[in-house]
Amino acid sequence: MSKKIGYIWSKRLIFECDRINVVIDRASHVNSLIKSYGIVQNIINCDKRIASVDELKLFHSNEYLKQLQLNNDRDSADDINDNDLEYGLGYDCEPLEKMWDFVRVIAGGTLKAVECVMDGDFDIVINWNGGWHHAQRDEAAGFCYVNDIVIGIQKMRQTFDKILYIDLDVHHGDGVENAFSTTKRVFTLSFHRHEAGFFPGTGTVNDCGFGLARGYAANFPYKENLSGHLLSKYFKLVADLVRERFKPNACVIQCGADIISGDKLGFVNLIPNDMDSIMLEILKWDIPTVFLGGGGYNIANTARYWTHLTALIHSTEICNDIPDHKNFLSYSSDFELSISRKNVRDLNTEEEFERNLNIIRLNLDKYSVS
Ligand code: MN
Repeated sequence: MSKKIGYIWSKRLIFECDRINVVIDRASHVNSLIKSYGIVQNIINCDKRIASVDELKLFHSNEYLKQLQLNNDRDSADDINDNDLEYGLGYDCEPLEKMWDFVRVIAGGTLKAVECVMDGDFDIVINWNGGWHHAQRDEAAGFCYVNDIVIGIQKMRQTFDKILYIDLDVHHGDGVENAFSTTKRVFTLSFHRHEAGFFPGTGTVNDCGFGLARGYAANFPYKENLSGHLLSKYFKLVADLVRERFKPNACVIQCGADIISGDKLGFVNLIPNDMDSIMLEILKWDIPTVFLGGGGYNIANTARYWTHLTALIHSTEICNDIPDHKNFLSYSSDFELSISRKNVRDLNTEEEFERNLNIIRLNLDKYSVS
């Protein structure tokens, strides 16, 4: 039976997402490219879905939320003060105008996505405007002001017993792992670059959760210039281990596009096709799944990658020539959907990946994950 797939969209959500400093206009580019290909079957309009204070409190502290509310009326010219800095609002997360409106709309998009799978209306929902995995309980971090993922998963727990979160962004999914590090009902699995000085610096292969929930988190670190063969082989090996034991009944997948070759921050050498076997594997599990965005600092390549994934999820073949649409010129000079790999050496080895796999297996056994 074919799956019912939904695509989260609203004018307001795109508007809010577009104004994140480091990815200005990214959401518009992604959405207009996907629309130009005519891939989407069901648009889920989330215009009316704004997160309530209680929903934001599913993860964030009162104090942090108060600071965001206070900041709602600030002028962009206002200086950043000590209070802002205490809550991570400075450096890479500069205060935004109307910040309170912004976080409620961003979280609302992902809440709408999870509600559509909870209701059973959809088997799969895509929300490229979500996936802000670094936001912590009382702190903005890594361009993330609200952790829509944690809030969404908290909501999903009302319907699903066991949720598997997989983070494919180049950066460790620290905010999500921290949020669920003491519960056995959410398993977090993150694949990410882990090298000295690379943000956020957490997520070693030995990190696997705390207290009673030890064993219910797994981390698969890798080095610069990772290419496709190793990742797809070890993704399947690790995901099979986790699934055999944990037996999730729903999935949330963070698909950060900063793993794609040419990203300004990622320096990984993957191309969209490299992710096909991973995505097809996830789809084969045949459980309710929400696909989210995340990082991705090369705007055109991020739009290319998420368009490629949207087509793959819809089992639709699309043409490599970018259709004429309002952002057509952003795809110069080749105006193609495909992205070429760089001619650089992959610093990762099969031996290290085998070692990671074995440590993850040992932890799953040692803590009797089930
Ligand atoms: Mn990232």
